[in-house]
Amino acid sequence: MDVIEVESFLAGQWFAPGPDARPVESAVTGETIARVGCPRIDCGTMLDYAKEVGGPKLRSMTFHDRARMLKALALYLNDHRQPLYDLSFSTGATRKDHLIDIDGGIGATFVFASKGRREMPDAHVYLDGPVERLSRGGSFLGRHIAMPRRGVALHINAFNFPVWGMLEKLAPTLLAGMPAIIKPATSSAYVAELAFRQILDSGLLPEGAIQLISGGIGDLLDFLDGQDIISFTGSADTALKLKATHAILEGAVPFIAEQDSLNAAVLGADAAPEEPEFGLFIKEATREMTVKAGQKCTAMRRLIVPATRMQAVIESLSERLGAVRVGDPTDERTQMGALISKSHRSDVLERADMIATEAERICGDPMKFSVRGADRSKGAFLPPMLFHCADPDAASTVHATEAFGPVATVMGYRDTAHAAVLANRGNGSLVASVFTRCGDIARELALETASYHGRLYFNNRDSATESTGHGSPLPHMVHGGPGRAGGGEEQGGIRGVAHYMQRTAIQGSPDILTAVGGVWVPGSLEAKGRGHPFRRRFGNLDIGETIHTAKREITIEDINHFAEFTGDRFYAHLDEEAAAANPFFPGRVAHGYLLLSFAAGLFVEPSPGPVLANTGLDSLRFMQPVSPGDRIAAQLTVKQKTIRNDDYGEVRWHVTLTNQNGDVCAEYELLTMVAR
Ligand code: NAP
Repeated sequence: MDVIEVESFLAGQWFAPGPDARPVESAVTGETIARVGCPRIDCGTMLDYAKEVGGPKLRSMTFHDRARMLKALALYLNDHRQPLYDLSFSTGATRKDHLIDIDGGIGATFVFASKGRREMPDAHVYLDGPVERLSRGGSFLGRHIAMPRRGVALHINAFNFPVWGMLEKLAPTLLAGMPAIIKPATSSAYVAELAFRQILDSGLLPEGAIQLISGGIGDLLDFLDGQDIISFTGSADTALKLKATHAILEGAVPFIAEQDSLNAAVLGADAAPEEPEFGLFIKEATREMTVKAGQKCTAMRRLIVPATRMQAVIESLSERLGAVRVGDPTDERTQMGALISKSHRSDVLERADMIATEAERICGDPMKFSVRGADRSKGAFLPPMLFHCADPDAASTVHATEAFGPVATVMGYRDTAHAAVLANRGNGSLVASVFTRCGDIARELALETASYHGRLYFNNRDSATESTGHGSPLPHMVHGGPGRAGGGEEQGGIRGVAHYMQRTAIQGSPDILTAVGGVWVPGSLEAKGRGHPFRRRFGNLDIGETIHTAKREITIEDINHFAEFTGDRFYAHLDEEAAAANPFFPGRVAHGYLLLSFAAGLFVEPSPGPVLANTGLDSLRFMQPVSPGDRIAAQLTVKQKTIRNDDYGEVRWHVTLTNQNGDVCAEYELLTMVAR
């Protein structure tokens, strides 16, 4: 196979590696597979390209436009996986590992595409939270908005997931509306470059949206300012070095760090060897140690088990780990491939030796293990290595040394409180898992350890079949962790998009808030409509357009009839004396649902027309009881419009029901689908 010349894509042009490029070896054969090194970096031109070409193009699109672009991109990549699989074997990854990296990255892109359309507006302004009333009379209000940062997102990725690592950062960045410069880790840059080429070749992204630096980034950090953001994944040492750059500190450049972590897995005290939870723990610990040859930031590093079950755990785990088939990653039977490089293997062995100063090696002798289908002396192979630390309270190295490979240490605990103390000795981790079916144990561990962890994963026989696994960060859920794990937070749905936007408090009159946010705010002027809005198509409705219905009196007969008809005979509607004794009611009152039904009767347009369906109510509040003899009227205002497809869009109406005195009896948001 020819050596791959890994190129960089800078300011819209591809550049071959320069003469100083570094050779990268295959994890399996040790042969040089690629050359990586950026020939020259013209930081000013790159940043101008991102900020002046990519940024404006992305920002001219709505959140939904960008979400649709991500969906199309995910579909495109899904159809182009095979070349990525083929190339990734050289990183030592097996077919199962590809599913996490390649399919996992595409899956994350799909999730952001879907969340973008469901949870963000088809607009340019993201509204963050409700309107805040800042004045007694309601003429001065506040609300938070979020807008894409005007700079560039610099993504610095770790070697272990060249595709997932790129896409899990790129999807929220593009959804937010920011251009990105991607800097993959050198040792797997040839896979990242191929994935990047596919993204570019798809033709789906606007010009200037992405750039790629294969190799060093030169003095790029010195050019960043407060509109830019760095999202880093890698070791704590590198993060510290980068964060401490003068320009980053001086420019208050946001820095999201996902670092290494000494993740714990706790076997609950209820999980005796004959219980399913014990078996799940052994199975998942084995998987965590061997998937990606243990090169996973979330991998279990410390197995915290009841001291009384130590022997059983050691026996079961050693048996499982001893049977793991290590070797040629292209062979379907291989359970664990190679580490990324021989130099990384040396690093892992060095750290395993450090752990061995406080723990006894139970299994996995790096000098004596078999490798199937590959040459052990040429590739970066290791066996899974399990250690046992007999005194985890006195130990420090086992809680602080990340051997980024197939290495874990098992340690015993006395009671659940002690297990929590040991888990927290990681000093801030990405994830801890707990194998228990006991709610009390789960709760105690959650209360004691949550503040030290970005994610807590519980598994037992009830969730096992569908559980996504200890080691899988999910785009829906927060990924990151406090302290040693970097203090960063990625993903977590729209939370992960928010990093790439600036949140701004907007204060002003209701009209001003409506104009800025594009969503009608109560108290704003009503827009004048032309006839009944239910007779007009989606495009002919204006934000703020309002109808006022006629009044309808509520009679005692209505209430009796509704009670009989529906079966809702709650005493407050039928028993005058009991109702009057209730602190909320003056006497018998109308059913809330009766009011909603009458309101619909007041505003609905009966003949077939552009309104296709009523799809629900949001934020319903009954604020004032309605007594027999009261007369109610409804007021409907177009609050927000969202295109759903070529045929129809969603109209969100703000509905207020008032009585004859003008008091608000109920308020809600009504959702309708309206033909375009
Ligand atoms: P690393 O050596 O810290 O490198 C991480 C990234 O930083 C690479 O792209 C690297 O590029 C780059 N880098 C290093 N020095 C730099 C500098 N002076 N300027 C700009 N960029 C620089 O980490 P790694 O070996 O790739 O990854 C393994 C580590 O990452 C482990 O500790 C693991 O726990 C952690 N990790 C964490 C997560 C998470 O989500 N929390 C995920 C995966 C991995 P080069 O390769 O070109 O040096």
